[in-house]
Amino acid sequence: MKPSAFATICTQNSDAWKSDWDVYLNAETLNKLSMKCMVDEDLIKRSCFYYNCDYIYNQTEQTPQVKWVMPLGVRTSHKNYGLQYCPFCLIEDGDRPYFRRHWRLGFMTCCPFHQNQLRDRCPSCRNPINIKRPQKPTKRALYHPEDIAHCSKCGFDLRRTEYAPALPDEYEINRINFTQSSLGYGNAGNLDFNYSNLYFEGIRRLISFLVCSPKGEKLFLHLRNKLELHQVYHRELIGHNVEPERLEIGLRRTALIMIYYLLRDWPDTFVDACKMNRLTSHLIKTPYLEFPFWVIDALFFHLQHPKYSVHGEEKNNIIIYLERKLGQTIKPNQISRYLNHYFSSSTQITEEENLDENTNNNDLIT
Ligand SMILES: [Zn+2]
Ligand SMILES: [Zn+2]
Repeated sequence: MKPSAFATICTQNSDAWKSDWDVYLNAETLNKLSMKCMVDEDLIKRSCFYYNCDYIYNQTEQTPQVKWVMPLGVRTSHKNYGLQYCPFCLIEDGDRPYFRRHWRLGFMTCCPFHQNQLRDRCPSCRNPINIKRPQKPTKRALYHPEDIAHCSKCGFDLRRTEYAPALPDEYEINRINFTQSSLGYGNAGNLDFNYSNLYFEGIRRLISFLVCSPKGEKLFLHLRNKLELHQVYHRELIGHNVEPERLEIGLRRTALIMIYYLLRDWPDTFVDACKMNRLTSHLIKTPYLEFPFWVIDALFFHLQHPKYSVHGEEKNNIIIYLERKLGQTIKPNQISRYLNHYFSSSTQITEEENLDENTNNNDLIT
């Protein structure tokens, strides 16, 4: 039967099938499914991202949402291309084709086994892949497991999709993402991760900045040019507050290739590219979002403004200027405070070490 009909029968709720069951099932649905199918609840939970996302996302348990999983939904006004597929994996399944969990993840754009680009829509009619409501040939009374390998709108056999090879860099980053999300650890470029969620959190922030934030446009265009990628990019089409898993597959592909390029000698290329495009850490860092250590390191140890070092003569001149303006003498223990004030509170300064404090201060006082 259709998964949508199955969901209705199990839950006695005709809307139940509309939510993404592979992402989250509430206690009531879990219980009903378990009772009707005679399958242990824990076993059902294992197939939901929500209960098994530690490797890719830090679950706060405040929303049923799981970052990186692309939304499927059922809205007709806006089509969600939330399910990807590899035609060759489907072919290898024989008469029991099934859709892999990793095809639902925004950081996957190519098959780690066949090195071809994943597809997120029917190549024939361009509609999203919908396995909740497959169609069967009218002359057949029952559904067959192979029906889900066909487009639910036009019936096209998805296994006949043309081969589209992934670029070598795209394949490499997909391989990294696949390994990290399956094992819970791994490496990427010159970095080792004991906890893969820190890797995914970091590339999520980077992709958000590069592609989803207007502030990242310069860096995006710089990298696109540098890597000779020909991604069509119109900021206004991306919209506001878009998250990486909601990006169109072409943009995700481009963003991942950029991330792969930046990670190879992290943080050098990234820091150079930011400096070239006059990007400072405060533009990239958003105060209410958490950044994992390896991104923070790059932003704060490499990108922050260098400390301004005051030369002895300059220091003297500033003090003389301030004393004249204030009409009073500045005491030696007040000098640092006045210098900080002079350079405004946001600029951190260091006083030159070799400065002979006493002589200068005596000069000032006299
Ligand atoms: Zn494949
Ligand atoms: Zn179709």
